[in-house]
Amino acid sequence: MRHALLVVATLLACSVHAQPLAPAGTGERYDGHRVVRATVRSQRDLDTLLRLSPDMWSHRVEAGGTDFRVPPGSMAALRASGIPFAVVVPDVQRAIDAERARLAPQAGGPIDGSFFDDFKTYAQVNAYLLTLRDLRPDLAEVFTIGASLEGREMRAIRIRNPQAGGGACKPMVLLTGTQHAREWIATMVTTYLADRFIRQYDTDPAIKAVVDAADIVIVPIVNPDGYEWTWTNTRLWRKNRRPNAGGSFGVDLNRNWGFKWGLPLPGGNGGNANPGSDVYWGTGPFSEPETAAIRDFALGKPQVRWHNDIHSYGQYLLYPWGWSPDPSPDDADFASLGAQFRALILAVHNLAYAPGRTYTRLYPVSGGITDWFYADRKAFAFLFELRGSPGGFVLPPDQIIPNCEEVFPAILAAAQWTIQRYPFRADTDHDCVYTLADFGAFQTLFAGGDPRADFNGDGVLNLADFGAFQTAWALGR
Ligand SMILES: [Zn+2]
Repeated sequence: MRHALLVVATLLACSVHAQPLAPAGTGERYDGHRVVRATVRSQRDLDTLLRLSPDMWSHRVEAGGTDFRVPPGSMAALRASGIPFAVVVPDVQRAIDAERARLAPQAGGPIDGSFFDDFKTYAQVNAYLLTLRDLRPDLAEVFTIGASLEGREMRAIRIRNPQAGGGACKPMVLLTGTQHAREWIATMVTTYLADRFIRQYDTDPAIKAVVDAADIVIVPIVNPDGYEWTWTNTRLWRKNRRPNAGGSFGVDLNRNWGFKWGLPLPGGNGGNANPGSDVYWGTGPFSEPETAAIRDFALGKPQVRWHNDIHSYGQYLLYPWGWSPDPSPDDADFASLGAQFRALILAVHNLAYAPGRTYTRLYPVSGGITDWFYADRKAFAFLFELRGSPGGFVLPPDQIIPNCEEVFPAILAAAQWTIQRYPFRADTDHDCVYTLADFGAFQTLFAGGDPRADFNGDGVLNLADFGAFQTAWALGR
């Protein structure tokens, strides 16, 4: 059964990157296209569906039904096939038009009511980060983490309390969203995380403790060119806006990371070298300025110990590896964290998210962000897939706040875990890196009888403290 599912997932391959490309300046339309949730009973069913659909919306075949976008010309054949299905979006273009009409009056201007009542443009998100900063300039700063291919700012917000003590080096938690342009809910959720950490600092002791002890950096829109394109042209655009050789556009940013980049894997979702594909991995690792900017920031901040990327949809909590079915060296920790996140999310609105390794839970991926952060940056890394029902990527706005609310406790728990695991205690000279200088500084503390040298906390300074220090030092803790 497990094997059969894997084969099925493998065969889905071709579907995801079959989406037709829009020429620059025009929008792809989806008049009369439906999204159907089909019950895939066999290989034959799947073959049929992939023939009829240019774009499978689900990430993999699901027991509860798998979402496919079906053009009007293929509906008769789908009905004739006998495959059980329900229509979940009766007309994709009508859903997009309704969304546009709803958003148009507010898209240019100031925000009425709550920011999270409806989806927001790139400009509005950027402005809102400044609003948050101005609420608590003592806790937040806004900065540019990089520029997109078309020169748009990748704006970031950093939240921490420099007055709270805990040493010059605190563990950094990096949260990124919207590598994939059409996943609008990811933009809202990442922005909400910043909002909550800032607004509830004074009233929620758990939030205060995290902001005091950690350094939180949030980048709501990693792919601003693609995001802007989904607002102005093609709503279902996924990649960035790289003009490729051959006239197509876009690199899938989440196949462009430098770890196992360009590695062909079973199942076409893993990435490929075809520029027209929706999972095109680019001309080289970090060929895209958007991925390179996040990489450079992460390499320049040795205190990054946690990374969380936010996507939609499917309600998954994914961890390494994406490139291999084998467990990572930290699989037990990842599994325990995944189970904890699942329970925390479930407790908010009773919605189940499925934790697991990307390769086996979702599908094989090479050149993904999570594997890079874990393997090359030695940070714990998760990727969350958010809500997509009803409407898939064109989610109704009343889903935004509940989705934000349920994810926040999991992110808070991730930050708490990071603080506990990486107190930077063996970084004796507080420069965020573990060098021989830390040994010298420790020795000085020890020789001076400083209580900070009582590393194992037994009240006496002896050789055992050296052993404990060395262990923590080697683990970067
Ligand atoms: Zn995504």
